[in-house]
Amino acid sequence: TRTPLVMANWKQHGSEAALTDWLTSVSAIDLPEICRVLCVPLPYLAKLRQQRAELQSQVQAGAQLVSAFRGGAYTGEVSAAMLSEFQVAYSLIGHSERRQWFDETASARRGQLSALWQAGITPVLCVGETALEHQQGQTCEVLMRQLAEVLDGQATAGPLVLAYEPVFAIGSGKPLSAQSAQQMHQQLRLMLKRWYSAADCQRIRILYGGSVNNQNAGEYLRQDDIDGVLVGSGSLQAGAFNALCHAV
Ligand code: 13P
Repeated sequence: TRTPLVMANWKQHGSEAALTDWLTSVSAIDLPEICRVLCVPLPYLAKLRQQRAELQSQVQAGAQLVSAFRGGAYTGEVSAAMLSEFQVAYSLIGHSERRQWFDETASARRGQLSALWQAGITPVLCVGETALEHQQGQTCEVLMRQLAEVLDGQATAGPLVLAYEPVFAIGSGKPLSAQSAQQMHQQLRLMLKRWYSAADCQRIRILYGGSVNNQNAGEYLRQDDIDGVLVGSGSLQAGAFNALCHAV
C-alpha cells in the first residue's frame, strides 16, 4: 500500500542543459507504479516546472533545502511558499551534508519542517549515524534523537517521508546491506509511534540512501520496510537512473 518512491538528489551537480536532457529521457518512460522525484539545485526549479508541463512528465519536483522562516529580511533564503510556486512536492530536510558543511541546527530543522507543512510540501527528513556511532552501537539512540529533535514540539504531525542514510554509506561506494537497512527501517517505523498513529506509521514511507545504484536498488525494495531509495551519484545520468527505476 506504500507506493515506492525513488528520489534523485542531484546535490550541487547539473546544468540547465543537463536538466532538459535528463527529464526528456526519464519522462519518456511510463512507470505509473512508482513515484519519481527529482531534487534539483534551486535555480533549476523554474525550468523543471516548465519542462514537466511540456513533457507531461510523471516526475515530481523536489527541493534540497528550505528556509525555516516564512519570509522577511533573511538574505539568501528561499521560503517554502516560494518552493510551492514552482510545484515542489517534496523537500529534503537535515541531509548529513547540510549538517556537516552548513552547521544546520536542530532548531533550524524544526522550523523547516513546520514551514513545509504549512506550505503543503512533504518533508523528507534525513537521519543517519556516523561510522563511529555505528561502531559504538549507538545507531538507534542517534536515530531516535534525530527524529525527536525535529518532531517533538510540532503542533501537529503532518505528512512525512523518512530517509535513512548512514553517513559512511553516502558517496562511498559502500552501501549498507539490504538486510541491515531493513532492520533499521523496522526500528524507525516503531520509533515513529511516539508521534504518529499506528495507521500513519504504516503509511509513512521510509527510504534508504547511500551508494544506491541500478545493481543494488531492487534488493532494497524487496525488504518489507524499505519503501524507496534516495539516490545521489547514481541519479545523475538519465540512463542509469532509468535502469534503477526499472530494477525497483
Ligand atoms: P550517493 O547515492 O551518491 O551515495 O548519495 C546518497 C545521498 O546522500 C542522497 O541524498
